[in-house]
Amino acid sequence: MFKYSDVHKVIYPRRHEGIYKNRGDNPWVSVRIRQGVGRDPSKWFSNQLRVIAEVSRTYSDGRVMLGTRGDVEVFKVDFRLFNEVAARLKEAGLDPRDSCGNSVRNPIPCISQFCPYANINAEALSTFIGDYFRYRGEYESLPHRIKISVSACEKACAVPTAQDIGIVAKPNGKFNIYLGGGIGEHAFSAKLAFTNVDAEDLLPICVGIAEVFRRSGERRGFKWVIKLRGLDKVKEDVMAIAREVKPKLPKPPNLNPSFIKSRIINIKYPTGWVTADELVKLANVAERYGFGYVLLFNNQNAYIPVHEEVKEIKGLGNYEVRDPGPIYPEGPITVACIGSELCPPGLIDTTSLGRKIHVHLNELKEPIRIGISGCTHDCGMSWVSDIGLEPFGFKTRILVTIGGEPGQLGFIVGTVDPNDAELTVKAILGMYSKSGIHGIREFAVKIGIDAIRGELKKQVPSFQPPDNSVINIFGPE
Ligand code: SF4
Ligand code: SF4
Repeated sequence: MFKYSDVHKVIYPRRHEGIYKNRGDNPWVSVRIRQGVGRDPSKWFSNQLRVIAEVSRTYSDGRVMLGTRGDVEVFKVDFRLFNEVAARLKEAGLDPRDSCGNSVRNPIPCISQFCPYANINAEALSTFIGDYFRYRGEYESLPHRIKISVSACEKACAVPTAQDIGIVAKPNGKFNIYLGGGIGEHAFSAKLAFTNVDAEDLLPICVGIAEVFRRSGERRGFKWVIKLRGLDKVKEDVMAIAREVKPKLPKPPNLNPSFIKSRIINIKYPTGWVTADELVKLANVAERYGFGYVLLFNNQNAYIPVHEEVKEIKGLGNYEVRDPGPIYPEGPITVACIGSELCPPGLIDTTSLGRKIHVHLNELKEPIRIGISGCTHDCGMSWVSDIGLEPFGFKTRILVTIGGEPGQLGFIVGTVDPNDAELTVKAILGMYSKSGIHGIREFAVKIGIDAIRGELKKQVPSFQPPDNSVINIFGPE
């Protein structure tokens, strides 16, 4: 019998291979699947979706979850069968390695090939940077993970504010780089560190950051290196390494934007769960009406690019048809991490809560994103959602934030009991709706957080404004 306490011996050393332990005294792990080396991280081809469906049926319970970094997770896989699963995935060009543990994670690109605003090909840049770090032992055993995103324009849909390294392409062909973002416990908004960077300096700077971080040994994450040493000193150290390594590094590929004319079929999966049967359906639609692939991004939606003349899709159920364009916040959508059903630190059942909340959100029919996490790791990206819920503490309370955006963290409203979370969201949506204001951040700024707190005090029995415990856990910013 596998004991959860064996996790440190058995699973931890293998986390960089793309697994993490599921909750309880069982041999189950989650397998977080990325695209293989050399592949666009956002394009999931029909044959790959079929293989994932088959893996899920054979080794799991016939469900998968769409992650918030453009990856797909299969749960409840017996870790003793992991090598078999990984081999099956690799046959289809999929590879879980470097998706978990203290590795350089999937550098998530915005979907630039399907957006007319794109200044560059974000997918090509992501693939280039991601490939460099993959399978390199020194970057699979960092003090903590490193998260990178690439946005092809300054609308920054790939949420630079919440990344260790947020790359944003400018119209002049150069790049801004934001550093040290990190959400959840001690939520830090990334800082603009480098401006007007040339494409050929991006990888050297990323390597410089990974090296500075590796040598720091700071187990709480890169954001703390910046906090403790100061941004200027970190920049200096990064650039010293970047200059040294640049001559030995590969040059970036052609990054010219490459727009693909299409219409986009958008299928929402509130809380991220998709069945194996649905995956196969997506694969069939992509093959029959589109380009043979489905796009995944950071919001648990599936996007199928289809040929422009397609008017109707048969047998797909609920879907929307949209033009190519920005993909944030893209609501109504309720994004949730896996939560207490399977994740060891999970404090609440995110799936049930998310599904209840989504009913209220759907009624409003506004592009609002709700982010629900199961603990302070904030995999549900609550801090950058319009309304965020993040549980914490021994006597679980839920931190409520509002007005998060790709470039800015949300404002702290206060805390509620888990049982009042649905009521809280309903109350906020009610106030928003009555206000006539467009956009949740705009609403929060115009109405004022104090007024929102006052109303929540009346409507939600357990609501409390933030106190020192909240500042201690979620500070310093
Ligand atoms: S609007 Fe968003 S999706 Fe489009 S290029 Fe800009 S960042 Fe990318
Ligand atoms: S936020 Fe917590 S509960 Fe949710 S997936 Fe991340 S670690 Fe697990």
